Amino acid sequence: MLSDGLVKLRITKPRRELLGQLGIVTVEDLLTYYPYRYEIMEAHRPTAEDPSLVMEGVLLEKARLAYRRQNQSKMLMRVVIDQQIYQVAIFNRHFLLAKLGAGQVVTVIGKLSGDHQIVASDLKLQPLASLPAITPVYSVKEGITSKAIANYVKKALEAYRTEIQDFIPLVYEEKYRLVSRQEALEMIHCPKSTTDLKHALRHLKYEEFLKFQLVMSYMRLFDRAENGLAKNVDQQAIQAFISQLPFALTADQQQAAQEILADFASEKVMHRLVQGDVGSGKTVVAVIALYANYLAGYQGALMAPTEILAKQHAKSLRQFFDHTDVRVELLIGSMSAKEKEHVYTRLMNGQIDILVGTHALIQDGVRFYNLGLVIADEQHRFGVKQRQALKDKGKRVDILLMSATPIPRTLAISLFGDMDVSTIRTMPGGRKKVETRFYEGHSMKPILPFLKQYLATGGQCYVICPLVDESEGLEARDASSIYEAMKRYFKGHYEVGLLHGRMNDEQKEAVMQAFYENQIQILVSTTVVEVGVDVANANLMVIYNADRFGLSQLHQLRGRVGRSSKQGYCFLLSDSKNQASIDRVKFLETTSDGFAISNYDLKLRGPGEVLGQKQSGLPTFTIANIFEDHDILMRAHEDAGDIIGQLERYPWIAAYIRQQLEKSDEAI
Ligand code: ADP
Ligand code: MG
Repeated sequence: MLSDGLVKLRITKPRRELLGQLGIVTVEDLLTYYPYRYEIMEAHRPTAEDPSLVMEGVLLEKARLAYRRQNQSKMLMRVVIDQQIYQVAIFNRHFLLAKLGAGQVVTVIGKLSGDHQIVASDLKLQPLASLPAITPVYSVKEGITSKAIANYVKKALEAYRTEIQDFIPLVYEEKYRLVSRQEALEMIHCPKSTTDLKHALRHLKYEEFLKFQLVMSYMRLFDRAENGLAKNVDQQAIQAFISQLPFALTADQQQAAQEILADFASEKVMHRLVQGDVGSGKTVVAVIALYANYLAGYQGALMAPTEILAKQHAKSLRQFFDHTDVRVELLIGSMSAKEKEHVYTRLMNGQIDILVGTHALIQDGVRFYNLGLVIADEQHRFGVKQRQALKDKGKRVDILLMSATPIPRTLAISLFGDMDVSTIRTMPGGRKKVETRFYEGHSMKPILPFLKQYLATGGQCYVICPLVDESEGLEARDASSIYEAMKRYFKGHYEVGLLHGRMNDEQKEAVMQAFYENQIQILVSTTVVEVGVDVANANLMVIYNADRFGLSQLHQLRGRVGRSSKQGYCFLLSDSKNQASIDRVKFLETTSDGFAISNYDLKLRGPGEVLGQKQSGLPTFTIANIFEDHDILMRAHEDAGDIIGQLERYPWIAAYIRQQLEKSDEAI
């Protein structure tokens, strides 16, 4: 079976452990560990634009060593290629010297570096025709080579070839003229030509998208199973409520609210995603939805991913509903059993109108009187089953998801299917752009004068680090050591706090509370502050090792500052030597448009990383690319709908979906 471990392939234990670190545990894992690139050995002559070459030749005379110290060497030889004599230089291959006599046939891989001069990067002692045309290159770790992995894969293919079954239903394979999965896997690992690769990719990309779309379609089916209730929407009362808000809604907020109200009034169950950049004002849209739902006679629930955020939401909801009769209550894990019991009772009796909380909302004891609307803030933080569990607390409940990682509408639709999407694009007026600056290195020195000045005016600041502890091999500055350093430096002047994921909830709350109350001026933290935290007096943020974060994540972090009319500052530090990484981070200096940022990020990292599908148990795309392969994605989207409609015909697909949904449960 493909789920067999690697013992049967007679791979030794230490090697299996190394493979395990690459995520390869079963034969299936090994077979789906695709090469990340290929070395293509085709004859190639240099041109004016492209000096690279792959050419066969014959040594005119014995090669000679130009110099050698320890393992460094340079070898020179004269090679006849196409009846012309080239001077070929190659570094660090002195061990080949004995074999490079006059008349030896060689294949030279390298670059033309001058008139009849070649610098070779590799040299094969065989004619081009006898070399494997395409060599897969696997990403590896120390102790295991790409070649070794290639050999294991070959072993696996030999032993398990006949057991490789198609996932894609035959009709679709025929419709798109796809090779079988067995062929695709053979071709992706051992391609004989670039055509092989194309065939393999077409199968595997479609399969990957199809798997993704199947899970999505299935979930949607769940959500749409029943008809909704046409809620009685009291437009006048809602307009009155909106007009007394402390600010005027932006056009996008108004539009989003209207779309939700229209969903309420219609008979279908609402399944809507409100997406908008950090600070675009999604909360008030949720508030309007909750109010309309309340007026229609239903209870509402708002689920947040952390206790801090849940408390914050409860607080601001109470403010928004201050002059109304709406009763808002909080339910979080850290409350005592007695407090919870009190909430449960009143909730069941209909004495609570809106319940705000964390996962605590989906506990068994929680029973609503008549739940009509469920809102999940930062939706990607919740698993599919959790959302479902909350929805199941009522009948024909409307669902509103809120996300701060905006993506283009067409992409949202192809990723989330026929979920409706409302987009808040414009920021509330008066908001200043967060001034963002990149600093090379991983010291705060260049920022210190500015930071001191800023603190002297009474402001607070965040210092974000990627890691908690100094971990071996990684040079990332860790939160605890930075905390210590800051404490020493600002001793007697400012209080410094530390916040990280390994602290328990109580400890985190205490630190956060102290920061709210300005008992702490400098908060050193890992990304736990990423989600939704709102401290109006904190308008400066320093981020260490910024290159280690995704762009959308940096943008979210940055969204913590400059949330009022005050100027916000964000300083990004990185000592990366990789120009591409630096360019990526520097992109934030130029734009504050969440759409542009998530687009850029999506292209680089794919939606799995950006939208956090890892957490929601959805597949991440390893081989397909949502931008380049958009057509395949759309086709898979359509086909998945058809397949779900007759799932009983495809038992292996049903099993796959079940398994994915289970996984999404465990991920939390
Ligand atoms: P997010 O979309 O990140 O959840 P919030 O809903 O927390 O953003 O809103 C960010 C801040 O902007 C809040 O302080 C909120 O009161 C304020 N805000 C929201 N809408 C408007 C508006 N139309 N005009 C002015 N301020 C607004
Ligand atoms: Mg929010």
